[in-house]
Amino acid sequence: MRRLCDCEMPQFISEVLNVRDRKGECRKVYLTFDDGPHPIWTPKVLDLLAWHQVPATFCVVGAYAAEYPELIQRMVSEGHDVANHSLSHRDLSKCEPDQIRHEIAEANSLIQRACPAAAVRYMRAPYGKWTDEVIAESMKAGLMSLHWSVDPRDWSSPGAEAIVDSVLTSVLPGSIVLLHDGSPPDECDLHDHDASREQTVIALSRLIPRLKEMGFVISSLP
Ligand SMILES: [Zn+2]
Repeated sequence: MRRLCDCEMPQFISEVLNVRDRKGECRKVYLTFDDGPHPIWTPKVLDLLAWHQVPATFCVVGAYAAEYPELIQRMVSEGHDVANHSLSHRDLSKCEPDQIRHEIAEANSLIQRACPAAAVRYMRAPYGKWTDEVIAESMKAGLMSLHWSVDPRDWSSPGAEAIVDSVLTSVLPGSIVLLHDGSPPDECDLHDHDASREQTVIALSRLIPRLKEMGFVISSLP
């Protein structure tokens, strides 16, 4: 298996180009949240999105979707997209095609079982580690490969203001912003302090109004 190199045409989406609104303006940005749902942090993120009436895409771990189906149902009923982030958050670049297929298919079916109304359209590879095989298996499952263009590394707990600054200095029309409402199963205990996404929640509460002030329209992925 090989990683995609920079010289190849990427076969995944890391930003959305040429999307214009009715005025001919192109100021849409897209918020994505990985590694949930989490029983503490996901509801806080959903509350903020509801308060500000903006949509997001949640790239969920299949095993967590099975554990917290009510959070998947809430995402869908409040107008958010649910995307596939594999069954167990394994590094799929190190997996055989049949394992990749299993990780994608199982996550899809657990999301569907949690919320039959969920229309899963995107796959995000754990750690963003895309290979030709991961992209091919995603396509076979009917999923578009979703990367990102703005990564404030919120998982490293750099401070809420640092997360806000990092996003605001790099965001452009069409940007896909990567944030986290949970932690991968193999990295953190759910109740471990390290798994806290408090900085992300605080950052989000400041980020949404600031993006709106800058003329951005926080949108659903096409
Ligand atoms: Zn992840």
